[in-house]
Amino acid sequence: MTSIAFIGLGNMGGGMAANLVKAGHAVAAFDLSADALKRAGEAGAKPAATVAAAVADADVVVTMLPAGPHVRAVYGEQVAPAAKKGALFIDCSTIDVESARAVGKDMEAQGFRFADAPVSGGIAAANGGTLTFMVGCAEALFPDVEKILTGMGKAIIRAGDHGAGQAAKICNNMLLGISMIGTCEAFALAEKLGLDPQKFFDISSKASGQSWSMTSYCPVPGPVPTSPANRDYAPGFATAMMLKDLKLAQEAAAKAGASTPLGAQAEALYGLYAANGGSEKDFSGMINFLRGVK
Ligand code: NAD
Repeated sequence: MTSIAFIGLGNMGGGMAANLVKAGHAVAAFDLSADALKRAGEAGAKPAATVAAAVADADVVVTMLPAGPHVRAVYGEQVAPAAKKGALFIDCSTIDVESARAVGKDMEAQGFRFADAPVSGGIAAANGGTLTFMVGCAEALFPDVEKILTGMGKAIIRAGDHGAGQAAKICNNMLLGISMIGTCEAFALAEKLGLDPQKFFDISSKASGQSWSMTSYCPVPGPVPTSPANRDYAPGFATAMMLKDLKLAQEAAAKAGASTPLGAQAEALYGLYAANGGSEKDFSGMINFLRGVK
């Protein structure tokens, strides 16, 4: 059993903290939302009144916060001044690579250990303990990080040093965003050409057009029963979330001098879809935007 502080008990963090309790850890929890804190208490965590109170006795601090500025502020202003020296900090939020590197460097300079560990998998995987973690930390630190994340995930992969977890996450999601648009365009064209969507799926899923977006998350109802298309595009993975990750990818590409023209197009298209009512729909609802259907 490890003494863990969990900060950020939202859609993802709530289930993740509950799984750490189930894994036998003593979890102190904090969130700005009283409702989220109450739910964590009901799941067996010990609600704390402040970040400082949550982290004071913790050997490990896990955070699941919205974005880079929250992570910089929470670690710099609240966690570091109150935590035990040598404590292990694991940030699972999806944030910009630069913030992850800056916070990691700052925390290590203050005598703490730090890993960025963003996740792939969504709310169902957070609740079910089946997330995939992409970890950025020193090789020697990885076994300690892995021990904690095991309670919340099915795959834990070290991507490299600080920031590498975030880099892997945004590259993967940029590819996913692009491949989903391509899949949606292909199904929309197939329809216009009078092809039965199931027939097109049967052929393309066994031909060179095959991808995860088609065979695990098909954007039309029918071929893949678990895909959001079968429930009117209820997320899943909301368009707003995809847009956030595509913006992070474009910022990173601009800073690194990488050419990502399709990533830029994907960001623009998801931005349009979000602004036209798609923000809270699953990102595969892009097919309706392409069809001109609300
Ligand atoms: P969320 O908005 O539901 O949860 C964030 C929580 O952080 C909220 O409960 C909020 O009150 C809390 N919070 C914000 N500032 C705080 C502070 N200063 N101190 C304490 N608590 C604070 O968001 P989410 O869906 O749980 O996503 C969290 C992170 O996980 C994001 O970075 C997101 O990109 C990433 N992510 C989300 C999904 C998904 O499907 N929802 C999938 C993969 C990754």
